[in-house]
Amino acid sequence: MHHLSQRGIDGYYAGGSGVASREQFHSARGLVKAFMDQSLDVPVLRVGGNAEDQASHSAARERGLPAPIEAYGRDDSPDFCVDRLQTLVESYTPAENPPPRPPFAPQEPYSFATVTGGTVTYDHAVCRTCASKACVQTCVPQILSVVNDVPVLNISLEQAKKGGCTECLACEVECHFLGNRGGRIFLPISGLPDVGGNHVHSD
Ligand code: SF4
Ligand code: SF4
Repeated sequence: MHHLSQRGIDGYYAGGSGVASREQFHSARGLVKAFMDQSLDVPVLRVGGNAEDQASHSAARERGLPAPIEAYGRDDSPDFCVDRLQTLVESYTPAENPPPRPPFAPQEPYSFATVTGGTVTYDHAVCRTCASKACVQTCVPQILSVVNDVPVLNISLEQAKKGGCTECLACEVECHFLGNRGGRIFLPISGLPDVGGNHVHSD
């Protein structure tokens, strides 16, 4: 994520061939979250994902990420992919000062810890009026349920922290596009200062 936020980057090429499809899907969500957190505005070309992965990028683009994202399969030649990225970079003009992602200031936070020391928080004040409850629908290990109109764990806090929450990022990414934007995940990354939405917890 850090290198993505450095200045002077015109485009981003993500290759991932040979990785299991589930991991591909997770890294696709990670990429989308990085773009949201950092308000990144450069074209992305991703190679090696599966069909689901590619679909998720198309969906992200359609739902409002500013810069173009294109995904290609392993059968597309390296030359073709390089040409595509060059075309994207040359034909895209990023916003001069993309607005930063709004800070997350929950009125009614419901939080749980994750296995790497991160935190998932849902603002129940916002969730209550969310029609989609997209977080619950999309949670890969299905550890969330709707109770009294808000998302809560259907496992214990301890179980969530021991890996019940896989940090798949699905709840936050889908909440951003389909929900009321009441969900946020903070994952500390060792050695990195606080970058954008990625708060580092000191406790
Ligand atoms: S999708 Fe977002 S706003 Fe809606 S219930 Fe889930 S966390 Fe709350
Ligand atoms: S990060 Fe993934 S596993 Fe954890 S609560 Fe959200 S959707 Fe579920």
